[in-house]
Amino acid sequence: MLKKGSKLNSILTGSCPKCQNESMYSDKNPLHLTKVLKMNENCSHCGLKYQIEPSFFYGAMYVSYGLNVAVGIAAFIISFVFFKTTIEKSFLIIVISLIVLFPFVLRLSRNLYINMFVSYDPTAGQK
Ligand SMILES: [Zn+2]
Repeated sequence: MLKKGSKLNSILTGSCPKCQNESMYSDKNPLHLTKVLKMNENCSHCGLKYQIEPSFFYGAMYVSYGLNVAVGIAAFIISFVFFKTTIEKSFLIIVISLIVLFPFVLRLSRNLYINMFVSYDPTAGQK
């Protein structure tokens, strides 16, 4: 499922959407919060410029909004339906999930967003 060349691979690992040979981020670990959005400028394998146009990643905010809504709904269903918590506790769990998952959602939304515009090219980065 995560083999090279699939969009899912690039989306989940944050690798270059074109050649998938390296991470787009200067620090791979999203839990290093000060560097969560720090990206390399170009891919050193295929030369793809990640910031396709100025403020390209503002569009990723809409993706992250959608993802956050999905996280909230999932957290609510899991706590309220499966664990039978009270409404108040369910909302607390939603807030906690959103905070804990925030760095992952942030990166995932960027990965999703750039993958909508850039496709995998098996010949990219080969010299
Ligand atoms: Zn590349």
